[in-house]
Amino acid sequence: VFVCFEGGDGAGKSTQSALLESWLLEAGHEVVLTREPGGTDVGVELRRIVLSPETGDLSPRTEMLIYAADKAEHVDHLVLPALARGAVVVTDRYVDSTLAYQGAGRTLATDEVEHVARWATGDLRPHLTVVLDLEPDAGLARFETRDRIEGESLEFHTRVAAAFRAMAAADPEHYLVVDARAPREEIAAAVRARVAPLLPQ
Ligand code: C5P
Repeated sequence: VFVCFEGGDGAGKSTQSALLESWLLEAGHEVVLTREPGGTDVGVELRRIVLSPETGDLSPRTEMLIYAADKAEHVDHLVLPALARGAVVVTDRYVDSTLAYQGAGRTLATDEVEHVARWATGDLRPHLTVVLDLEPDAGLARFETRDRIEGESLEFHTRVAAAFRAMAAADPEHYLVVDARAPREEIAAAVRARVAPLLPQ
């Protein structure tokens, strides 16, 4: 079972993925909690390059290809082997982040971004994607230090948030959208209710 958390910066993805992990572990499942970018050793290096303010300006196509390389490594060397063992994989960001940030945010051609991201992941799709929906200004206000992306304009982050909502609206069977401002236990319960039926008995 493959579950993905998506949403803007500061929406609480890492908190919610950790809460889901604890619940799954208590129920006796093997869980692999991971993230993009940076779920593998190579991914950690790629994450440093793509997010460090010291990197300076990157061509949007370079940025896209770094995220794609991170994904290929992540899927081939971590996600697929874990799924093959029967583990539940919970990832903090996946393909939709690329469609939202590199597509809608950077305004690269969406169909090309999607093609590259699907190629990089062998078109592996999550059983469920949880979108933690948050107005961008509220999310960014939670940060003190900023990486390359958090410093982008409010318009950039507004396009990103709209892209997540649109993807979820187009495919309700595979998405859960929750208001990220709701109490965290309430959000966790809503997530558990959608994940439970996906689990092996
Ligand atoms: O969620 P996390 O804090 O790990 O994301 C790190 C940064 O990478 C965030 O600022 C996020 O906006 C950015 N990012 C991105 N494109 C992606 C994935 C993450 O710009 N495909």
